[in-house]
Amino acid sequence: MGTLLLFCLPLAIGAQPASEPIPSPPEIYRHLLALKPDPDRVARVDGLVLVREDARFQLQEGYLALGRPLFGRVQAAFFWGSGRFTFSPRDTLEKANLQRLFGTDTLRLPFRQLYLFFDDTTLQELTSQLRFSGGKVASSVTADLKYVFKYLESSQREHLPVAFVRSLLDSTASGLFYAHFSDVVFEPYFFEINPYSEESVRFYRRDLSTSVRYLKEIVCQYPAGKRAGSGADLDVLNYHIAVQIDPGLNFSARVQLCARLLPESERWIYFWLQPDIEVEAVSDSTGRPWPFWKGDNSALLWIQRPQSPSSDRPLCLTVKLHSKRLLERRGDWILLRSSSNWYPRHRFEDLATYQLEFTVPKQLELVAVGGLVDSAVVDSRRRMRWETEGPVRAVSFNLGEFRRRIFRLPGLPPVEVLLSPRAHFNAGRSLLRFRVLSGRHMDVQVGRDVVQSLRFFTRRFGPLSVPRLVVSEIPTFSGEAFPGFIQLSWETFQFTEKTGLDAIFRAHEVAHQWWGIAVAHASYHDQWISEGLSEFSALLYLERLKGRARYLKALAGWRKQILGARRSFLSRGMPPGSLWLGIRNESYQTRGDFYLVVHKKGAWVFHMLRMLLMDPVSENDSLFTDLLRRLYQRFQGRRVSTAALQALVEEVSGQPMDWFFRQWVYGYRIPAYRWASRIQARPDGRFNVQFRVIEETGSVPFRVPVLIRLVLNDGRSVRVRHWLEAGQTRFQIADLPARPVKIVMNDLESVLARFHKVGW
Ligand SMILES: [Zn+2]
Repeated sequence: MGTLLLFCLPLAIGAQPASEPIPSPPEIYRHLLALKPDPDRVARVDGLVLVREDARFQLQEGYLALGRPLFGRVQAAFFWGSGRFTFSPRDTLEKANLQRLFGTDTLRLPFRQLYLFFDDTTLQELTSQLRFSGGKVASSVTADLKYVFKYLESSQREHLPVAFVRSLLDSTASGLFYAHFSDVVFEPYFFEINPYSEESVRFYRRDLSTSVRYLKEIVCQYPAGKRAGSGADLDVLNYHIAVQIDPGLNFSARVQLCARLLPESERWIYFWLQPDIEVEAVSDSTGRPWPFWKGDNSALLWIQRPQSPSSDRPLCLTVKLHSKRLLERRGDWILLRSSSNWYPRHRFEDLATYQLEFTVPKQLELVAVGGLVDSAVVDSRRRMRWETEGPVRAVSFNLGEFRRRIFRLPGLPPVEVLLSPRAHFNAGRSLLRFRVLSGRHMDVQVGRDVVQSLRFFTRRFGPLSVPRLVVSEIPTFSGEAFPGFIQLSWETFQFTEKTGLDAIFRAHEVAHQWWGIAVAHASYHDQWISEGLSEFSALLYLERLKGRARYLKALAGWRKQILGARRSFLSRGMPPGSLWLGIRNESYQTRGDFYLVVHKKGAWVFHMLRMLLMDPVSENDSLFTDLLRRLYQRFQGRRVSTAALQALVEEVSGQPMDWFFRQWVYGYRIPAYRWASRIQARPDGRFNVQFRVIEETGSVPFRVPVLIRLVLNDGRSVRVRHWLEAGQTRFQIADLPARPVKIVMNDLESVLARFHKVGW
């Protein structure tokens, strides 16, 4: 999502403002930007305390000026002097994250400037304790306000601007509170209570990796006691989108959407829309124009609804939009620069049905989510209609000079693979100059992995409900999956890769049809289930394709990456966060950790479950297979949370699993062990092996079911599962019929841990 440039921009209101005296988003932004301290209301401060949830602002000594009123209400205050911020999150997981990032679970930060914006009790607290009169406001306070606004603009997912607008539109106090404070101007911190967000308490720091951009990133985020609402205005039920694309790749569309208005809906309702898209007009079903606003380069479209449309009837809107930059040529490919935000969306998790119409130059092929119901070529243009078979979360399309190959296998939906021969021919010629060889019949190679993994997953997890699977290529280095529609990087269509990495990449996107699409994750905390299980499914496919050794080698490689993150000879480095943090694993200090943790460690967690549920002797996998089948059956068309997954694992395994999820999903630490062994020959000719194991990290008691394999000198192998419990250091494997010649600790990569062998 692009950065929102709310301020300093020419504002375009699309229709005449309504007569009701409610401020519009551009007015709100403009007034917010112009907000200044009021020199008539300055007070000396000596020991004032503001407490918001788990944060405490001590204004020890200095001055405080109230802001000038914003739409008749005082909603800001500015402090300069000396103060202290103390924060100790009550949420234990957030406390652990604070500990990981700052090395303490109670943060104390001094500040010299504090900027407050509020729609709560702050004003009463200030006016009841301070005596305001005319005074001088420090020039630095006014001068540094511009930075405060720059950070406001770059709010994550722009949720804060939405909260500000909603809060100011709401006549009752919403509870919004936002603090920007710093000891050093260029190293600010931020604390916020956003009543429109489920996790309303947020503490941020600055992204210090860059000196130019004013970016902040979340350190802690969790629910507070009181919440104003979901922040949602409506539930979109259906879209009818007619798209026109001309030979110059100019995009225009007429989007009709019908939605159910939610009880807490505001007069200005917002939609997310790619920043490059311009909106021409918004009207209702009678053709009456509605006021709207979208700032240049903003990802928010605001639409003002009339006073009181009946809330029991669906609200239908038509939005006309266009963009010269949404579609972009990359070599001989065409890139849709926003795969699922090219039409207005209110909440990304909403399910809706779609009718799509596309008119494109006839030499271009187009594929979209859904089924093709009609296609015709008239003059130089191709016209196509697509419809989704049921409600889906998002739709996308792909455009290019594609060649189509169809794979049909009994019992499976047909698989269509689209590739652009000309683009690959030209890319191949360029690559040859660097002595890089391109593959042949790449659509067949890709198609083979897609069909084989589709068949494998269908047998393993259960049949999909999609009538077809369309696979096409995009000019990026990533992949993306929609219902029955997969986009893969051009790269996987260019080269033949033999180690299995491409097989994992292709199968991962196929697996998303089960994990992520059919079974969706409940929140960002649970995204590891979709990504980790898709990655793990791809690994199962790799095992099927290339054998157990290749499967284990991939896991060992990922283990090294997870354990070695940012570690060097000199530094132990910042450890990766927990799976529970989801996307928040990505930070300026931990770039790439979303992929490392949510994909790789997520896959590892499913592997550990597999090992735990497997019979160590027969290697019978049926319990684990049963777990995945039940997960799919039970949650198909629904959302699964980490807690629900835990309950299912407990049901299948018949044992409590809280310890497992606490260690591997909610916790971020990874255990490390030193171990030694010695063999004892017994008088009766049999053998015992004694083990000594010491957990090195010590701080968190881990419980680990490790597999140990002993290779005996008569050629036989013995594998046992031993539970390494906290504090336990010695155990033995007794009564072996022959002398062990090899001891494999952590056989089959049974647990994600560091094992280091030492002498007895
Ligand atoms: Zn994925």
